[in-house]
Amino acid sequence: MRVTWTADGDTWRMAFRLDAEDDVTGRCADGQPLRLATNSFRIELPRTLREIHPDLLALAAWTVAAPWTRRRIVFDRPISDGLAGAIGDGWGIEAGPVGTGARSGGRLAISYSGGADSVAVAAMLPDAPFVHFQRVSHPRVPNRWTHYRSDVLAELAAATGRELTVVRSDLEFTLAEPRPGYPEHHAVAAGALLMADELDLGGLAFGYELGSRWLGGDRYLLRYTPDNPMWAPHGAWGRAFAAAGVHLVLPVGGVSEAVTMRLALNSELRGQVRWCLRGVGGPCGTCGKCLYKELIQAAVERRPLRTTITAGRPVARRWQEPPPYGGQEMIEYGCARVPGVEDTVFGAAARYLGATESSTAWLERCYPPAIEEIPEPWRGRVRDFMTGEIGLMNEDEARRVETWGVA
Ligand SMILES: [Zn+2]
Repeated sequence: MRVTWTADGDTWRMAFRLDAEDDVTGRCADGQPLRLATNSFRIELPRTLREIHPDLLALAAWTVAAPWTRRRIVFDRPISDGLAGAIGDGWGIEAGPVGTGARSGGRLAISYSGGADSVAVAAMLPDAPFVHFQRVSHPRVPNRWTHYRSDVLAELAAATGRELTVVRSDLEFTLAEPRPGYPEHHAVAAGALLMADELDLGGLAFGYELGSRWLGGDRYLLRYTPDNPMWAPHGAWGRAFAAAGVHLVLPVGGVSEAVTMRLALNSELRGQVRWCLRGVGGPCGTCGKCLYKELIQAAVERRPLRTTITAGRPVARRWQEPPPYGGQEMIEYGCARVPGVEDTVFGAAARYLGATESSTAWLERCYPPAIEEIPEPWRGRVRDFMTGEIGLMNEDEARRVETWGVA
């Protein structure tokens, strides 16, 4: 794999060329099969920068190129020994050339999407600036996803009144299948990486919560994942980001989506929370994500489910079938707490799971090891918030995390 960056004013373009052993099919760090659509993309920064540390350019490139790289990657600027070592250790890929010093920075920014989880992070860290990734169209790939309203999400981010950097990119269109999106989950940070020297970033906070960090989350099912390759600080991606002087920070990594939902709904940013990519004047209310989040919100607010989605609809089909489910801990939590859930699209799931308020009480507190893995400069603030506002899991509750998918 060969990577070339070129700058034209505030726009940076990356082109990559596959070597003979590389392939247009690959896998994301979570195992998802991916197929490449095109080999170039751009990132539009809010202003023209004089210089960007080569490790930042290389790591941003790696968040897109990693799935397709088989043996080695050659960057167009020498990288640090530390970053080359992290890519070698984490992926078994030879990275180079090597020949620059490591970088470091001081501030913590939030990779802000506007969803409940990142609003919860924003509520915990009221002074942290936001960096928001906005999808724009690719000049050579038709956009069949015009219902994804990235412009609405960017407007909502601006409406928060927080210090905000918006970076616009078409990098999601490098992916043909399963659909346009981040080749690696970390590609959402590509723009933040390019801005890291300008913003003096030493860390980047993400809204990944207990499920994503420790329970397998999303595309994984029902598996305790202390060595999560994407989000553990000692995992491949954690070490690569640390080598580039931008530590991965998961301030809500120890709490469930019930806690992040409650924090978001009680936040002054409540009016700007939006987890749905489809709605303009509000969430669409008809997609699978809206249905999932409605279950959690109804549980947190202790009210009946408000939805027009019926059991026969495709987005509700998975809940008519037996578990395991992605995000199953939150399905259990919702089914245990939503009044009248047995007569909703989650009725079948509720019968299969048999969850109760006491069997899901662990999901209301913080898993202590998630605090210990926050980098030292920011750990105290997270610990103070979790002990003061949320409360820590006791040993029995922590064991629920550590036996998830095993018991
Ligand atoms: Zn929706």
